[in-house]
Amino acid sequence: MPRPAPKSGRKAGQKRAQNRPTGLSASVAELDGVGPKVAEKLARLHIETIEDLLWHQPLRYEDRGTKQPLSPEHLGEAALFEVRINEVRPLFRGKARLVCNAIGEGVHGPTELTIWFFGRFGPTPQAGRTYLLFGELQQGPHGLEIAQPELVTPGQIGQIRPVYPSTEGLAQPKIRQLVEAALEIAVRDLRDPLPGGIREAKGWPRLMIALQRIHLPRQNHGTPRRDEPTFDRLITEELATHILALRQRRAVTRQVAAPAIPPQEHLFDQLLEHLGFTPTGAQQRVIGEIKTDLAQRLPMLRLVQGDVGSGKTLVAAAAALDVIDAGYQVALMAPTALLAEQHARNFAQWFEPLGLSVLLLSGQQSAAQRREGLAQLADGRAQIVIGTHALFQESVAFNQLGLVIVDEQHRFGVHQRLALTDKGASQEGGARRPHQLIMTATPIPRTLAMTQFADLDVSVIDELPPGRTPVKTVVVRADRRGEVIERISQVCAEGRQAYWVCPLIEEGQIEAQAAETTFTMLGEELPHLSIGMVHGRMNATEKQHEMARFKSGDYHLLVATTVIEVGVDVPNASLMIIENAERMGLAQLHQLRGRVGRGATASHCVLLFDEPLSDRARARLGLMRETEDGFRLAEADLEQRGPGEVLGTRQAGIAKLKIADLQEDQGKLEEAGQLADELLERFPASVSPLIALWVGSAGQYGQV
Ligand code: ADP
Ligand code: MG
Repeated sequence: MPRPAPKSGRKAGQKRAQNRPTGLSASVAELDGVGPKVAEKLARLHIETIEDLLWHQPLRYEDRGTKQPLSPEHLGEAALFEVRINEVRPLFRGKARLVCNAIGEGVHGPTELTIWFFGRFGPTPQAGRTYLLFGELQQGPHGLEIAQPELVTPGQIGQIRPVYPSTEGLAQPKIRQLVEAALEIAVRDLRDPLPGGIREAKGWPRLMIALQRIHLPRQNHGTPRRDEPTFDRLITEELATHILALRQRRAVTRQVAAPAIPPQEHLFDQLLEHLGFTPTGAQQRVIGEIKTDLAQRLPMLRLVQGDVGSGKTLVAAAAALDVIDAGYQVALMAPTALLAEQHARNFAQWFEPLGLSVLLLSGQQSAAQRREGLAQLADGRAQIVIGTHALFQESVAFNQLGLVIVDEQHRFGVHQRLALTDKGASQEGGARRPHQLIMTATPIPRTLAMTQFADLDVSVIDELPPGRTPVKTVVVRADRRGEVIERISQVCAEGRQAYWVCPLIEEGQIEAQAAETTFTMLGEELPHLSIGMVHGRMNATEKQHEMARFKSGDYHLLVATTVIEVGVDVPNASLMIIENAERMGLAQLHQLRGRVGRGATASHCVLLFDEPLSDRARARLGLMRETEDGFRLAEADLEQRGPGEVLGTRQAGIAKLKIADLQEDQGKLEEAGQLADELLERFPASVSPLIALWVGSAGQYGQV
């Protein structure tokens, strides 16, 4: 591909005059033909450095090597066709400039083809001559057609061309030219971080060869496929490297000592006594695992996975009490202000009778309250502080922080989690690192666990407290709303409570309106009930006030938006109605449904839907009716919506992969794990270069 002339001699001269070696880490702006406008377009594609171009993966390939027959089988595909043009007619109707009648070989003999040319298209085709066309075959009203094909010159035959993701105003040839320029630099600059021995044993190509295969595939090797050694190498290596990066991070984290906390019993026993329940076997086991960790001088890094309602709070409380007993402080971070408030109330109720001081830090407090709270933390009067992520964003100083608990981790992405725990660490002045306990209700499919949580030990609470009755789920079309309202009336007459969750709408304002409309409608339909409402547009105090009234039984019915998705605990509520359930993902539905079934009464969940129902939505609702198994739902969610959604990229995002796809490439995880082990054991020196290549030298997992 010839390079276009530089836009101005002066600019090219300048670049050369600086005589700066253009390395892979340099900005794309260093490349010929990249001015500010092109650079800005590339940035839209997340291409900022020259190296980024190497990882810009083709969407697909165009095979200009194999002539295809003119047959309906190839409709909609861009392919190479050979035709003889019989007639060329200029045409100024619409935008078409020329229409040609041509004939080529079909599967059952000669087949006619209509060719349209628009605007300027290069040399005018001549009647009576044979051409190679590259274009997309379509079915027109009078037979096969091709619009605006490329006339392929003999020199171009046999190429397999990558087609890249692009953006407006950035043509394919331009991207190809830039990728080729990056490859030229890579030949000089790119080191293959994978030990040759491993590469050879697995029959994998060198890195440079692999990249050339992806961007400059040769005809005689056919179109690149995801199951060939090139991709096998890159995908396995990338997954292995992410696992290594998390493990390395774990090692780094654990270089700093944590306070060793000997197991205590008496505070927790006192708590259980006044709570009146015994921990489940699963809770006991997980508490034991945590105690073992806490007793070490190494910081605990533990993820507690437990389905909605499995009683993670009690486990957190057990850990917190040991830490407090040993004279250290505990910070608990919740994903929403509502949940932070609920935890604060809960912990106050549990801990204050034990003579401990529980502090809530929230954005709603007055400056004076806040100052007082911060002072209590700094001098150690407050033993446990509860708040949202704001806890770690501001300069909150602890007296002796011994444990950081992150609740409902699925609401935070991997970066956010790591950043937060880092902040928690730095507040210790670097000398000591607090233990970390991370809790999540999202059962994490193995694929995700390996790549996103390889730095954590995992405990699973795989048992629900006794006395729970399964939630019966029904799927109901929205026009049967009347029956549902009748049902609310019955349930509330029996002294139970109900939730009504309004549809998920992107804009906060409209969502609040939807809640208000529903609130008014239900108020008219159910005049004998007292109804509360929470939505995202209310301030935290208002929300907390409404929640508290619902919890205390002031309200029969709570109209809510999905703000109640996480953690809200009102055991007397036994009916959950979810409007437009077809718009929600499985994880979210599961979380919402988990708000009921927390007491001994049989609970129900009504999933209301509007027609038309897509096949996927139908399948989702069917699965919700069929199972309460959070793990099955999470697996299905991962399949349907991808890992970003499952882990909640809404907030932060998961580790970004260059080539591998967590869903598509699940099958390679096993091998990737083994490769990570092998690299660590036999080639420890290759680990840093691998991480630099795949994860970035600055490291999206951050250096501590
Ligand atoms: P989650 O795991 O979803 O955070 P919670 O910690 O909110 O669950 O617990 C759900 C409910 O179960 C709470 O009302 C809690 O007090 C109760 N609970 C927790 N453990 C037990 C237990 N061992 N026996 C009885 N009830 C329990
Ligand atoms: Mg919880």
